[in-house]
Amino acid sequence: MDDCIFCKIIKGEIPSTKVYEDGRVYAFMDINPIAKGHTLIIPKTHAGNLWEIAPEDLSAVHSAAKTIAGALQKALDAEGVACLQLNGRAVGQVVMHYHLHLVPRVKGAPELPISHWDLKPGDMKEIQSVAMKIAAEIQ
Ligand code: AMP
Ligand code: ZN
Repeated sequence: MDDCIFCKIIKGEIPSTKVYEDGRVYAFMDINPIAKGHTLIIPKTHAGNLWEIAPEDLSAVHSAAKTIAGALQKALDAEGVACLQLNGRAVGQVVMHYHLHLVPRVKGAPELPISHWDLKPGDMKEIQSVAMKIAAEIQ
């Protein structure tokens, strides 16, 4: 896609710091890292989000995530790696080309803002009624 910043990165029109590439995916460092080692993995074929991405590209992105998460453990001694993927401006997606964030937490680093929240029990009736609606939409 011509005006997509991540498509431009894949084509080499915008510089990036690559860590991995194969036939379907490209992985590079986020330039606004929320932690040391913050990496993005994208499909080479443009897809805006989880609704649009082809299953083969989705598999390839997540297989690469396994490889790169292993590398983050070894290279940075990461004790954990958070995987985050946003779909739609309503949940904060800024770049409209599917991307999976890999955010490692190295020993002694502060808690990640994306992986810690308070647990509050929900209303089980509402949970079940929402689940029924979702399940009914899955063919
Ligand atoms: P989001 O769409 O909110 O999931 O996140 C988009 C991410 O892309 C942000 O973390 C940005 O820092 C990152 N980003 C935007 N432009 C670039 C770029 N040219 N190189 C690397 N990362 C980028
Ligand atoms: Zn794109």
